[in-house]
Amino acid sequence: MKKVLIIGSGIAGLSCAISCAEKNMEVTLVSPFPSERAQSVLAAGGINAVTDSGEVGDSIECHIKDTLSGGCDIAGKEAVTGLCENAPEIVRWLEKLGTVFTTDPDGKVRVRAFGGQSYKRTCYCGASTGKQIVTALVMEARRYEGMGRIKRRLWMDFYSALIKDGVCRGAVFYNEATNSPEAITADSVVIATGGQNALFGKTTGSTQCDGYTAGKLFTQGVELKNLEFIQYHPTTIETAQKMMLISEAVRGEGGRLYYEENGSRVYFMEDRFGERGNLMPRDVVSRCMEETGRQVFLDITFLGKEKILKKLPEVYELCKKYRGIDICKQSIPVTPSVHFFMGGIAVKNNHETNIKNLYAIGECASIYHGANRLGGNSLLAAVYGGKVAASAIEKSESVDTEIDYTADLAQAADKLRALKNSKSTYSVMYIRNMLAETMHDDLGIVRSAEKLQKGIDDVTFYLSVADKIRYDSSELAYFGYSLSGILTLAKATLICAKSREESRGAHFRSDHPEQKDEYKAATIISFDNGKYRTYPDTEGKYES
Ligand SMILES: Cc1cc2nc3c(=O)[nH]c(=O)nc-3n(C[C@H](O)[C@H](O)[C@H](O)COP(=O)(O)OP(=O)(O)OC[C@H]3O[C@@H](n4cnc5c(N)ncnc54)[C@H](O)[C@@H]3O)c2cc1C
Repeated sequence: MKKVLIIGSGIAGLSCAISCAEKNMEVTLVSPFPSERAQSVLAAGGINAVTDSGEVGDSIECHIKDTLSGGCDIAGKEAVTGLCENAPEIVRWLEKLGTVFTTDPDGKVRVRAFGGQSYKRTCYCGASTGKQIVTALVMEARRYEGMGRIKRRLWMDFYSALIKDGVCRGAVFYNEATNSPEAITADSVVIATGGQNALFGKTTGSTQCDGYTAGKLFTQGVELKNLEFIQYHPTTIETAQKMMLISEAVRGEGGRLYYEENGSRVYFMEDRFGERGNLMPRDVVSRCMEETGRQVFLDITFLGKEKILKKLPEVYELCKKYRGIDICKQSIPVTPSVHFFMGGIAVKNNHETNIKNLYAIGECASIYHGANRLGGNSLLAAVYGGKVAASAIEKSESVDTEIDYTADLAQAADKLRALKNSKSTYSVMYIRNMLAETMHDDLGIVRSAEKLQKGIDDVTFYLSVADKIRYDSSELAYFGYSLSGILTLAKATLICAKSREESRGAHFRSDHPEQKDEYKAATIISFDNGKYRTYPDTEGKYES
């Protein structure tokens, strides 16, 4: 039986685990926390698919076209075609597994409007789509667990990949329960560790998504792609712990953005783009909001209490609970925040990385979204990517998993010992806070070469002290050892952003405000002997 190691148990990891188990493979699904705590459960608005209940005129071709143009023509056409063609079947599969979609009285899945889409095609479960999908997938994973095909392991933090002779044969983890490094070998390894939110401190996402895995793999020879494309969600509200998302569903239901001037409202998105202005792609809305230089509000009061409570109950609760705002009577003060990462681990269409038998899926992989993601396409990509990787693994060759990893375990133990003994004056939290400040200031909605260079210099300094960092040994070991991987990813991101001397999608350069044909390709970054090297993927290396 082929052995598969999947790291990360959000929607992508679960989808891949179930798909591998369906194909009679033996899966070990590893994560520090249960799936119910993965960022996937936060997904609110929905998942895109052209279904029977969709709007008249919509088609799979139109879903493909919207996705490619939302991504500003740098997402691979073949990959996007596969994604959109398989979307209807994915929604049916999720429904069959028990996902409770919101339906019409006749049982047809309802759809709502989301930004950048020509038709309503976002299927949803109230405003808790992610939670419903995770619940259904966990139940299915448990069924396979009962059959011995899936084994779930918790408290395991990724440390490094076991790459021998250019082939991935497993990974080293830090087992936080036993307090020691542990290796797991497999024929194929799938990375499903989510986005890179923690680089920015407070975002709409989970701090579990810190990008360490991508950063560490990068130093082990894995290429990364399109890191400069970071989606700011236009409508969020700040709370003590994080930025809370006001789902795009509010604008999908007719919500209007405005600011106040001389006592009257300026509906700046509608003034500029007409009737559908509030539902322009997220990068456009966020940039327009930033340009106003004012507090922007989102008004949905006109929908009336009955409809608000029926269609947007979670948004109502959230605003009431965290900010004391009654959205039936008051507008919501909103601000753009970091939300989604189009960039990540570079993968081919079958989700394999440049290292044999190492795959990446879900938000940690960069493939379907180009320069900007359409809302509702990432849950779809997480489920679909898991299935595609499972099919590729089924066809791949088995490898010798009887490898010697004693040196890898010893190296991990040494690193932790050194951290515990450090007398440095810099603490992990201090550097992480500094990093978040740097990323917000220098890699915001509007960027310039000067700011990006300042960011690179700052992160280079943080990196110079990261390995000697002082960390409180009462905290998880992961917190200490992950810092240098996180910083490496941050530096690579800033370098990618500096190398793209144009504006495209979510990447806007005040010193290069125009889109340029010469940059119509993905940015790839690799790590050679401590040097970061970027190149445009003009040959379509990752598009087959
Ligand atoms: C507030 C919010 C709302 C959203 N709404 C929508 C929506 O309506 N529609 C849509 O399409 N998308 C939405 N998204 C995006 C979407 O939720 C994510 O892109 C998607 O769920 C990512 O799934 P994933 O499985 O790749 O990652 P995650 O769900 O983030 O799972 C990552 C897994 O990796 C594990 N992990 C992380 N680091 C390590 C490590 N070092 N070692 C071991 N394991 C690790 C985590 O514990 C977790 O199990 C939303 C995102 C947010 C933040």
